[in-house]
Amino acid sequence: MMAACSKGKISNFKVQEQLFNSLCRSVLLYAVVMWGCKKMEEIISFQFYFLRKLFYLQNEVSRWKILLETNARPIENSFLNVLSKFLNRLRSKRKDSLIFGCYEMLIKYQSKMNPKRSWTCMVNKVLEEWKVPILNLNLSHIATACQIKKIVASHRLQAINHLVETMCSRQNDVYSKLKAKIGSEKYLNSNLNFSAKKLIFQIRINLNYVTHAGKSCKLNGSRSGNYSICDIFNLQDNEDVYHVMYKCPHYSGGRFLFHRDIYRKTVNRDNYLLSIDWSNEKILSNIYKFWSYAMKVRNFLSTY
Ligand SMILES: [Zn+2]
Repeated sequence: MMAACSKGKISNFKVQEQLFNSLCRSVLLYAVVMWGCKKMEEIISFQFYFLRKLFYLQNEVSRWKILLETNARPIENSFLNVLSKFLNRLRSKRKDSLIFGCYEMLIKYQSKMNPKRSWTCMVNKVLEEWKVPILNLNLSHIATACQIKKIVASHRLQAINHLVETMCSRQNDVYSKLKAKIGSEKYLNSNLNFSAKKLIFQIRINLNYVTHAGKSCKLNGSRSGNYSICDIFNLQDNEDVYHVMYKCPHYSGGRFLFHRDIYRKTVNRDNYLLSIDWSNEKILSNIYKFWSYAMKVRNFLSTY
C-alpha cells in the first residue's frame, strides 16, 4: 500500500487515509480490546509511523503538526470506538455466547495478576484519561449505541481542542501562524502529484530538507562544513529552504522561470511562509517545478 501511495498512483490524501484504515488499521485493531489498553503508545506510534513515512517526515516533526496538517483521525479515537462497541455488544449477548465467554476470561484472568495490570484497570485507566465514563464489571453503566457515537465524537473534539491549545501555546512557531483554520489542507486533496504534496508539506512544516521525486535534499544543519553556509558573493547566508527559494544567486534562473508570482512580494526568512497562497494550486505546482530546477543545479554544483 505504501508503495502504491509513494509512487504517486494514489495521491489523494483522503483515499490514502481510507486505505490505511481498511488495510492497516483494521488489522491492528483486530481483537484490540484484549491487549490495546496496555499498548496504547505503540498503537498511536503506528499511525505516526505511517504518516511520517508517507510524507517523508523525520521524527523531529511533532505529532500535533502532523495531525493538524492532515486532519487525520487519531487512532486512539478509533480504538475508543471499538472498545465501547465491544462493551455495548456484551449487554445484548447471552451469557453462554462466545463474546461473553471472552469477556469473562478477561475478568477471570485478572485475579491471577497484579491488580494494577489487570484488564479492567487498564481499560479504566485509558477511559479516565480520555474523560470517558469508566467501566463497571456488571456492565450496567455501558452506553447505548447512540451514546457511544456521542462519546466518541466528543473524544475526537477533545483531541482536536488539545491540538489547537498546543498550537496557541507555540506562538513563535511559524506553523502556528500558518495554520489559519483547523481541518486538512486543501492541497492534500488537490490534483497535484503526490511528490509535490510531500514537498509542500515539508516546506510548510518548516524543515531543513525537502524531498523531490523520491530524492531527498538536505539543507542547512544537516550537513557539516561548507554545505551549511552558502558563501557565494560573500553572502554568508545559512542554506535553508528560504535561502534556496529567495536568496541564493545559483537558483535565480529557476526563480525567473517558475516563481515570478511569489517574488513580487518582499519577504524575509521569518515571514516568507506566510506570504505564499497555499490554496493556489498553480503556485504550489510552480514551487515544485522550481525545486526540480534547484535540485538539478545543486547536483551540478556538488560535483565540483
Ligand atoms: Zn546559496
